[in-house]
Amino acid sequence: MEKKAEREEKKVQEKVKSEEKKAQKKLQSEEKKAQKNARREEKHRARVERHVAICPHCGKNVLDHMTVCPYCKSALVPAGYKPVDPEKYRKIKIACSVIGIAVAIAVAIVIFVVLR
Ligand SMILES: [Zn+2]
Repeated sequence: MEKKAEREEKKVQEKVKSEEKKAQKKLQSEEKKAQKNARREEKHRARVERHVAICPHCGKNVLDHMTVCPYCKSALVPAGYKPVDPEKYRKIKIACSVIGIAVAIAVAIVIFVVLR
Protein backbone atom coordinates (compact mmCIF):
# COMPACT_ATOMS: atom_id res chain seq x y z
CA MET A 1 0.00 0.00 0.00
CA GLU A 2 2.80 2.39 0.81
CA LYS A 3 4.39 1.75 -2.57
CA LYS A 4 1.21 2.69 -4.33
CA ALA A 5 1.08 5.99 -2.50
CA GLU A 6 4.69 6.65 -3.43
CA ARG A 7 3.94 5.92 -7.06
CA GLU A 8 0.98 8.26 -6.96
CA GLU A 9 3.10 11.00 -5.49
CA LYS A 10 5.73 10.50 -8.18
CA LYS A 11 3.10 10.72 -10.86
CA VAL A 12 1.78 13.97 -9.43
CA GLN A 13 5.29 15.40 -9.24
CA GLU A 14 5.95 14.51 -12.88
CA LYS A 15 2.69 16.08 -13.89
CA VAL A 16 3.54 19.27 -12.04
CA LYS A 17 6.97 19.33 -13.68
CA SER A 18 5.58 18.91 -17.16
CA GLU A 19 3.02 21.62 -16.54
CA GLU A 20 5.74 23.94 -15.34
CA LYS A 21 7.71 23.25 -18.51
CA LYS A 22 4.67 23.96 -20.62
CA ALA A 23 4.07 27.23 -18.81
CA GLN A 24 7.70 28.22 -19.32
CA LYS A 25 7.53 27.43 -23.03
CA LYS A 26 4.34 29.44 -23.35
CA LEU A 27 5.94 32.35 -21.55
CA GLN A 28 8.98 32.20 -23.84
CA SER A 29 6.87 32.11 -26.99
CA GLU A 30 4.79 35.03 -25.74
CA GLU A 31 7.97 36.96 -25.03
CA LYS A 32 9.22 36.24 -28.55
CA LYS A 33 5.92 37.38 -30.00
CA ALA A 34 6.06 40.59 -27.99
CA GLN A 35 9.60 41.26 -29.22
CA LYS A 36 8.55 40.62 -32.81
CA ASN A 37 5.58 42.96 -32.46
CA ALA A 38 7.79 45.64 -30.93
CA ARG A 39 10.25 45.34 -33.80
CA ARG A 40 7.43 45.52 -36.34
CA GLU A 41 5.98 48.56 -34.59
CA GLU A 42 9.38 50.27 -34.64
CA LYS A 43 9.80 49.57 -38.35
CA HIS A 44 6.34 50.93 -39.04
CA ARG A 45 7.06 54.07 -37.03
CA ALA A 46 10.34 54.61 -38.91
CA ARG A 47 8.52 54.19 -42.21
CA VAL A 48 5.87 56.72 -41.19
CA GLU A 49 8.44 59.15 -39.85
CA ARG A 50 10.13 59.20 -43.24
CA HIS A 51 6.93 60.65 -44.66
CA VAL A 52 6.32 63.25 -42.00
CA ALA A 53 6.58 66.84 -43.16
CA ILE A 54 5.88 70.12 -41.44
CA CYS A 55 3.01 72.28 -42.58
CA PRO A 56 4.45 75.65 -43.70
CA HIS A 57 1.26 77.39 -42.56
CA CYS A 58 0.67 76.07 -39.06
CA GLY A 59 3.91 74.15 -38.31
CA LYS A 60 2.19 70.90 -37.38
CA ASN A 61 3.30 67.48 -38.54
CA VAL A 62 1.59 66.29 -41.68
CA LEU A 63 2.32 63.47 -44.13
CA ASP A 64 4.21 64.37 -47.27
CA HIS A 65 1.56 63.01 -49.66
CA MET A 66 -1.18 65.26 -48.31
CA THR A 67 -2.47 68.05 -50.52
CA VAL A 68 -4.44 69.77 -47.75
CA CYS A 69 -3.29 70.26 -44.18
CA PRO A 70 -5.72 68.42 -41.87
CA TYR A 71 -5.19 71.05 -39.14
CA CYS A 72 -5.39 74.40 -40.89
CA LYS A 73 -6.95 73.24 -44.20
CA SER A 74 -4.41 75.15 -46.29
CA ALA A 75 -2.98 73.76 -49.50
CA LEU A 76 0.24 71.72 -49.32
CA VAL A 77 2.62 70.70 -52.08
CA PRO A 78 2.89 66.90 -51.92
CA ALA A 79 6.44 65.57 -52.01
CA GLY A 80 7.32 63.24 -54.83
CA TYR A 81 4.84 64.93 -57.10
CA LYS A 82 6.22 67.60 -59.37
CA PRO A 83 4.24 68.84 -62.33
CA VAL A 84 5.93 67.63 -65.49
CA ASP A 85 7.86 70.26 -67.41
CA PRO A 86 5.92 70.70 -70.71
CA GLU A 87 9.13 70.96 -72.75
CA LYS A 88 10.44 67.72 -71.25
CA TYR A 89 7.04 66.08 -71.77
CA ARG A 90 7.10 67.07 -75.45
CA LYS A 91 10.62 65.66 -75.92
CA ILE A 92 9.66 62.37 -74.25
CA LYS A 93 6.57 62.15 -76.42
CA ILE A 94 8.61 62.70 -79.60
CA ALA A 95 11.22 60.13 -78.55
CA CYS A 96 8.51 57.56 -77.81
CA SER A 97 6.86 58.22 -81.19
CA VAL A 98 10.18 57.79 -83.02
CA ILE A 99 10.93 54.54 -81.17
CA GLY A 100 7.41 53.25 -81.82
CA ILE A 101 7.62 54.02 -85.54
CA ALA A 102 11.08 52.40 -85.75
CA VAL A 103 9.80 49.24 -84.05
CA ALA A 104 6.76 49.16 -86.37
CA ILE A 105 9.01 49.48 -89.45
CA ALA A 106 11.34 46.75 -88.15
CA VAL A 107 8.40 44.40 -87.55
CA ALA A 108 7.02 45.17 -91.01
CA ILE A 109 10.41 44.41 -92.61
CA VAL A 110 10.75 41.14 -90.67
CA ILE A 111 7.25 40.03 -91.68
CA PHE A 112 7.89 41.03 -95.30
CA VAL A 113 11.20 39.07 -95.40
CA VAL A 114 9.74 35.98 -93.67
CA LEU A 115 6.63 35.79 -95.85
CA ARG A 116 8.47 36.24 -99.12
ZN1 LIG B 1 -1.34 73.37 -41.48
